Amino acid sequence: MHSNWDKIIGQQRVKRTLQTAVHNERLSHAYLFWGNVGIGKDALAIEFARTLLCNKQGEASCGECSSCKKMETLQHPNLKLIFPLPGGDNDKNEDSDPMETDVLGEVRKQIGEKALNPYFHIDIPKAKFIRIKTIRELKKESSMSSAEPGKKIFIIFDADAMNDASANSLLKVLEEPLDDVHFILVSSRKEAVKQTILSRCQLIQCSMLSDEEIQSALEERNSVEPTQAHFISRLANGNYSRALELLGDDINKYRTDTVAFLRSILGGSTIKLFEDQEEYLTGNKRDNAEQILTMLLVWFRDTVVIREQSPNNILNIDQEKELSSFVGRFGTKNLELCMSSIERALELLRRNVYLPLVMLSLTVNLRRILNAK
Ligand SMILES: [Zn+2]
Repeated sequence: MHSNWDKIIGQQRVKRTLQTAVHNERLSHAYLFWGNVGIGKDALAIEFARTLLCNKQGEASCGECSSCKKMETLQHPNLKLIFPLPGGDNDKNEDSDPMETDVLGEVRKQIGEKALNPYFHIDIPKAKFIRIKTIRELKKESSMSSAEPGKKIFIIFDADAMNDASANSLLKVLEEPLDDVHFILVSSRKEAVKQTILSRCQLIQCSMLSDEEIQSALEERNSVEPTQAHFISRLANGNYSRALELLGDDINKYRTDTVAFLRSILGGSTIKLFEDQEEYLTGNKRDNAEQILTMLLVWFRDTVVIREQSPNNILNIDQEKELSSFVGRFGTKNLELCMSSIERALELLRRNVYLPLVMLSLTVNLRRILNAK
């Protein structure tokens, strides 16, 4: 049977857990939805909130009652969304530090966008922390009687972005659970959430999305044609939000950067190499580097496919000539080992290892493999 849960890509296990909790009326006061970026944790949190607020009180939201209608714009009086806001670096001056009107406008705009696309990440410019002021408001609102009968839900996006003051204040709220008040925390960096907060939450681990899940989501939801959807799903690394960004990105620019990177690995002197790579080796272009490495991985995968003489299966279909010439030159080298070096580098990047170090050691590895006798 179809339900509103189907609007969320994959995540069958999490959906079952939440539906069972609703069915058995065994709800926790606080949840933490955690897992990688871009896999739909926010979307799950919002759908869970919609279900808990729905007038029909079923395992899935009905989509038709007055409560569900209000949830369509995320403007439900019993729902409060919390996320990092600018300011709050200095807790003492907070009360004399009102939110500027342009920030309010931006907040409204982004909430509107989130309502249309729950995979959209709310990211207010200059916002670093969930402010202590926000948590104080949450504390007050959670203890007041609700505007409408029924449950009250607080969703805290980027829950790892709390400074000590905010986290301690939230902890006090979590320590005194109130009937019909539920907190849904969401984080892509569980390790950065205080242990004391984690211990008060039911932990819900959300899974990576498979390439196939992303590909079919792109085809069905975003009307992307299959070849393009296949290519983007491979680049997105299980991150649907990233896949959506890639749709709007200039993929050819990444491709050019990737080829330039590859060339600098293969070419000339070490000094030249460092010069060429300065852009990658300095600054914090982590997302960019991740993208280039993923492209590079797909490139090497294609070279292996060509070497095995099944060019119909390559992903970079418009680069068959370049790929063939690369295979002509390096086909006898251990291309699989290149792939595993790149995979390893990607893993280190995701674990926040110092970017220049990752890129440098990858470069050295690839050079060694491709120049081997
Ligand atoms: Zn409803």
